[in-house]
Formats: sequence, structure tokens, C-alpha cells
Amino acid sequence: MKFKYANDIEGNIIDVASLSNETLDRKISKFYTLHTNAELIPRLGKIKVKHFALKNKKDHTDNYETYLHLAGKHIIYNDLKIKLSNNIPWFLTLTEKSRCERMKSLDIFCEGKTIRNINLTEYFDDVYLESRHGDFIPDILLINRNTGAHIYIEVAVTHKSSTNKLKSNNRILEVSVANEADLNHCLRLGERDYLTNQSQYNFRLKTHSTYTCTDFCKDDNEVSALVVYESGKSYFKGIDINESFENELKDLQRNTNKIVAEHLPRGYEVFEFVYQNSLDRLVTKAREKGFSIKHCYSCRYHAKSMHSGVFCKFLKKRGSGNMAVSCEYFKEKTTDNNV
Ligand SMILES: [Zn+2]
Repeated sequence: MKFKYANDIEGNIIDVASLSNETLDRKISKFYTLHTNAELIPRLGKIKVKHFALKNKKDHTDNYETYLHLAGKHIIYNDLKIKLSNNIPWFLTLTEKSRCERMKSLDIFCEGKTIRNINLTEYFDDVYLESRHGDFIPDILLINRNTGAHIYIEVAVTHKSSTNKLKSNNRILEVSVANEADLNHCLRLGERDYLTNQSQYNFRLKTHSTYTCTDFCKDDNEVSALVVYESGKSYFKGIDINESFENELKDLQRNTNKIVAEHLPRGYEVFEFVYQNSLDRLVTKAREKGFSIKHCYSCRYHAKSMHSGVFCKFLKKRGSGNMAVSCEYFKEKTTDNNV
């Protein structure tokens, strides 16, 4: 059994990588396992990777999971303790929602994700290891002594936090550790933007409103809009998302406020069928909104074709969708869910 981490005589966690034969005084320094307190010998040779080995083979236990669990929580606890007392940031990284409102007037929102780093040493002033808190004994309790606000940090080796703990509304940051290499995630847990090997429970996540986004609203993408007039006629228009987008939109909205729109699926803008499908959805959307639209796409005699415009199966002719406005044979198609 080899170990990367051990306790020194004062109970500090020592990474074997920090030791060297040149600086280590073997007469003074003693090392012990984190989980059974058995004595360890640091092996710092050049050939094998540095490690701690049991001094007595008889001290061998198969309780490796306990070792990982203990090592994990001591690493995090020590890290927090040092950073709290020295006012060094220790970050909780949350993945939150962002909602881009650039196209609010078209009822389109781009939902995205945003990373938020919260410096916990600003909000909490004390940390406890395996200390009772209410009905629970969290591995690590981070607490603000004045307000009582707190976060549990749990190290999950074989099993996740108990359902009771998760359902308790206590905020829980849980790190999973499956092997010694994963202890690195405990060391790095408080780094900015660090989200590896962790789960978060009961945090109240914010939705951030933005006006720009790097998702749909970036240049080279497009919105398709269907502008509906009182007459029942409608015009389909693709609007490039660029610096003149807002002005173009204003021009459209000057004539009518009956506009339905959607983002065009990215990357497929070159295909005619993408526009046709978009138009189809927008005609449906306009009808759902109660706009006075009359369009061949909502007529039962309309045939889908790969060509521009529409084909009327009744009159056997091609034309524009606005033929429906003055067509005596126009017959609203029934939708599937309208039986
Ligand atoms: Zn956007």
C-alpha cells in the first residue's frame, strides 16, 4: 500500500511530493497514515515515484476508502482554514443561466450558461471538520458566525451524500474521489472556474439578463420573421444579426406590431427547406397568436415542395402564400391535435 498523503507529527497533511532526501531530517520527521495512524516511511528515491510506505507490513488494512475520505476532507479543511485566516479567495464556481434579451420585442430569448465565481472567504468566517450542525455532521462546515449562513462540503468516496442531507435545503458542495489521483480535485476545489468532479445541491441559482450573447445573437446568424398585416397578407423576411439589426427591426415594427419570429437553426441557412420549415412554424405561431393571417401554408390544399413559394393542389398552380387572402377555395387545415 502506497500513499501520496500523510499526517506529520503535528497533524498537518503532507504531500510526499513536497519532501526530498536533501531537506528531510529522518530523525525528527515522522509520518502517519491519515486513517489508521500507522507509521509511514517516506520513499524519496529517484527511480520510483515518491510515496509513503507502511513501516510495518502488519499495519496493512484494506480500508483504502477511509483513507481517501479522510485525506480528501483534511485537504479541503486545511486549505479553507489557511485561506480564511489570510483573506485569500476560495471560490465556489456555479454554472448559472443567462438570458439574452436583445430580441425581447420579438419574444425570442437566447438561453445560455454563465459561470459565476463566488469568493466564499468573503461570506464565511469559520470552518469546522466533522462538527455537528443541526441533524447532520457534515464533513466540512463553512459558516458565518454572525448570520448562521453555511455551506456543507462533502467528500464522496463510495457513496454520495445521504438523501436526507440533500433534501435538507442545506447548500452542499460535494467532491467525488475514486482514487488517490482524485485528491487533486480536493486541492484545487477553491480555484476560480474549477468545476471538475463536483456536484452542487440546494444552491439558489440566478438567471442573468444580458443584451448580447455569444450564442444566437452573434454576427452571421439570422432571425426569420413573419410580418402580418390587417389584410391577412404576410411577408417572410430573414434578418441578419449584425449592427443594423435593431434598425431593420424598428422599420418592420413601424408598420405593424404583428410580427412572429424565430432564430434560424445555425449552419443550415443555405438550404431552402430550412426557410420553408421556418415559414411553416411562423404561420402556425401567427395563427396561435390570433393574428388575422391567411396563408396557403395553413390551407389543406397546399402541397409542400422543395421550391420557393407554394403549390396549390386544388388549383394546380404555383404562387405566393398570400394567394390565400383572396382565394375562394381556401380551407383551413385541421391540426393533428385538433381531432
Ligand atoms: Zn442572444
